[in-house]
Amino acid sequence: MRPTLLVDVDGPLNPYAAKPHRRPAGYETHRLLTPRWEAAERRRLTEWGLPNKRMKPLRVWLNPDHGPALDALPFDLVWATTWEEEANAYVAPVLGLPELPFIAWSSPRPVPDNGVFWKTPEIVTWAKGRAFAWIDDDITEADRTWVKEHHDGPALLHRVDPRYGLALDDFAALTAWATTLN
Ligand SMILES: [Mg+2]
Repeated sequence: MRPTLLVDVDGPLNPYAAKPHRRPAGYETHRLLTPRWEAAERRRLTEWGLPNKRMKPLRVWLNPDHGPALDALPFDLVWATTWEEEANAYVAPVLGLPELPFIAWSSPRPVPDNGVFWKTPEIVTWAKGRAFAWIDDDITEADRTWVKEHHDGPALLHRVDPRYGLALDDFAALTAWATTLN
């Protein structure tokens, strides 16, 4: 059975931490008004007392090479992003990816201790001992430790720098890890 690759959007696919006016090479700009973004913007504007101000779309940088490169990996792809189903509606088509399963996070969001990222326990629960790799910009050593202690199966927690997004090295590391499972 192929391992699962859990894919975060903001950070690995959308290098949001790159310098604002210098789009990284290979990326294209998309301005999206997704229902989740609109709801969040509306809340923000209302909090600031500007309920009628025009809403700005979310600027997202995406690299069309990432879709085929992800698809070619020896993994089954699953979204692990706060975009949830919107990753299928807005991100997958731009990258040429098919509709993918996604993790539906608990609401309200859990608050783990010891610097563990909130997604980590949710992912381990979702994985049920299955082998998985996970790409995310928020992974730290605390998450690796937590997964070692709570996940009974192989796991690779691979941090991607949100200034650059997924690069060739990351794809190589994922492939190398999947090869060790055989
Ligand atoms: Mg992220």
